[in-house]
Amino acid sequence: MIETIIRVKRNYVNKLRKGYPLIEKDALIDNNKLKEEGMILKLVDEHNRFIAKGYYGKQNKGNGWVLHYKEHKPIDRDFFKDKIKEAITYREKMFLQEDTTAFRVFNGEGDGIGGITIDYYAGYYLINWYSEGIYAFWEDILEALKDLVVYKGIYEKKRFNTGGKYIDDDDFVCGERADFPIVVKENGVNFAVYLNEGAMVGFFLDQRDSRQAIRDKYTMGKKVLNTFSYTGAFSVFAALGGAEKTTSVDLANRSRHKTKEQFEINDVNPDGQDIIVEDVFNYFKYAVKKKLLFDMVILDPPSFAKSKKFIFSASKDYTDLLKQTIAITKEQGIIVASTNCSNFNMQRFKDMIHQAFRETNAQYKIVEEFTLPYDFRINQNFSEGNYLKVVFIEKVRFS
Ligand code: SAH
Repeated sequence: MIETIIRVKRNYVNKLRKGYPLIEKDALIDNNKLKEEGMILKLVDEHNRFIAKGYYGKQNKGNGWVLHYKEHKPIDRDFFKDKIKEAITYREKMFLQEDTTAFRVFNGEGDGIGGITIDYYAGYYLINWYSEGIYAFWEDILEALKDLVVYKGIYEKKRFNTGGKYIDDDDFVCGERADFPIVVKENGVNFAVYLNEGAMVGFFLDQRDSRQAIRDKYTMGKKVLNTFSYTGAFSVFAALGGAEKTTSVDLANRSRHKTKEQFEINDVNPDGQDIIVEDVFNYFKYAVKKKLLFDMVILDPPSFAKSKKFIFSASKDYTDLLKQTIAITKEQGIIVASTNCSNFNMQRFKDMIHQAFRETNAQYKIVEEFTLPYDFRINQNFSEGNYLKVVFIEKVRFS
């Protein structure tokens, strides 16, 4: 394959040499040589000394990803196959688990190829392509995957930069079409998954560890409020952990029947649970007015959301969200504060938590915290990839 030599600006060279995998938009001298996404880039310094090989693909803050550091090694089907094979080996034990049948098989730059993820759902595979650039290797990657795994069917999502719009193709690729929903298991709990209904499939795999903790350690006999609840995954785990009642709040209409479905496939009667379609920020006001108090409040908002009345940005507004939550949490109650926002790290998140409690004159104790689970492998040189932060906070005393 043709490789295009591209010079890197002096102050970006060291970072790349140390293993930073993203080719930042501002890093290149020869931006004018970037033509077709998917072209192979041979990155060199100003003196033409080799740094790394990668590909051109536009994705958020990047113009592509570094793939390896060997000047004479090509980027071909064998390269992709080796990476996918290694990723499968890393998760070998997960394929054998009977009580968890959904997990991530390939996690982008964490597994050595930025711009692509592959998830497993009980025999079906879902490939997420994050740029036109990585999609250019469609055939190599697909053939490699097909050689390496036994599959019922393969689906894909093209999540290129389209101004937030979903490319609404049929997402089926090959094998047999699934009869949706596919019912997968996570630590023994059933989940209905739809691989052919837009970008979200009904279930976020990265919260596996926190969901298990909620069920196993925190919810027996408790009143649980789950905000930004989507299909109610946390609520289902809370109910199965023995919660007295769960209340799920999400403003999307679909959340009502999707949440009902998740309860039903786990033999929990949804009539005993509250499923509320409403703006969370309105619900907080209602809860304060009605003097409602919860033993556990789960916060898992999107990084950025715009509703009719409110704009929420995790980096700006999380402290405020916590302050409103503290007001409706019982003493000794638990707040599960979660964010997938990659603009700030765990320390900054804990600072926000601290500030929220200070400003409400409440005391707190952090009882447990989670980041990404084992299968969401991260690249140690790319801290942005370690985006998930989940903190279990006990509200100690209200003074
Ligand atoms: N916690 C969920 C995932 C949340 S996804 C889980 O564990 O599966 C984000 C959800 O927030 C979406 O379903 C979206 O509809 C909802 N949402 C965004 N803004 C909201 C708001 N202001 N009020 C209520 N829900 C909101």
